[in-house]
Amino acid sequence: MPEPIRIELPEIFNMKTVNSWLFLDPEPTLVDCGELTEASYNALAQGLASHGLKVSDIKRIIITHAHVDHMGMANRIVRESGAMVWLSEYAAEWAEHVIEKWPARTALIEKTLRRRLQPESPIVQMLLAGSAAFSEMLSYWEPIPPEHVQTFQSADGVEIGGEHWDAIYAPGHSSTQTCFYQPESRYLLSADMLLNIAPTPVIEADPFQAGVRMRGLSTMMQSYETFRAMDIATAYPGHYLPFQNVTEVIDRQVSRIRQRAAQCHDFIRSGSADFGTLLLQMYPKRMSFPAIAMMIGYLDLLEDEGLITADMHQGILQYRSLS
Ligand SMILES: [Zn+2]
Repeated sequence: MPEPIRIELPEIFNMKTVNSWLFLDPEPTLVDCGELTEASYNALAQGLASHGLKVSDIKRIIITHAHVDHMGMANRIVRESGAMVWLSEYAAEWAEHVIEKWPARTALIEKTLRRRLQPESPIVQMLLAGSAAFSEMLSYWEPIPPEHVQTFQSADGVEIGGEHWDAIYAPGHSSTQTCFYQPESRYLLSADMLLNIAPTPVIEADPFQAGVRMRGLSTMMQSYETFRAMDIATAYPGHYLPFQNVTEVIDRQVSRIRQRAAQCHDFIRSGSADFGTLLLQMYPKRMSFPAIAMMIGYLDLLEDEGLITADMHQGILQYRSLS
């Protein structure tokens, strides 16, 4: 089984670059395809050219999850090539309906934060500035006409590069995320589930329960368990280089998450009750959107394990330890 070919595309939001994985045979296929920018398009065209291909040669685009850096440019490629875009049942709606679905994604994040932070908090102010950038994402993400969208069922898997790949629903980073595993080569297209950097759960709704927040870090821990039990030779992630030490990467990330959740529990035990205070204690130096998403995740984990509970007090959640 030939290795997936990495085409690294520039990325505007957070990660600096994103990977598009190219398969040459039996038909030129991309797994993920970057944001809709000129820079991204040029990098893709250049990457394809070094394999004797043009953008118009692409026949299929398979999407791992409904995030701008993984599918924003899909329709531009479709317009040039007539390619079909394949998405799992968890992500499919986003292909055609990204513009209609976007406000609900933003509203869920706002609601999640409003329940945790005072409106006058400097963190909220920082986030309001950030949310402008968030809505800007839509200008790098074009909807795809339905005649170019093919939904596959995860249970069926997909054919990529002439081989059958199992499709593994792996929520955590995104509630729409699917990874692909090829059993003979033991290759895993790991999307943003297994990255060789800190995990990044995103605040998102359950794909089948509108408006209900999926517990990102909790589902990510389950996905880690799924992959920990598998025999993976190489992970081809959504960002940065492929890696072989998959077990080590998972164990390192899981133990770091456990350690940080325990630390958060200690702060709650010693009397810190609100999200804003805990956030500053856990992230004294680095205040950011990913930090907030991780904090929400640590609190979810502690709640799941029955170690803490949360009550609403004047519209803001207050946490207390149960052990
Ligand atoms: Zn990504």
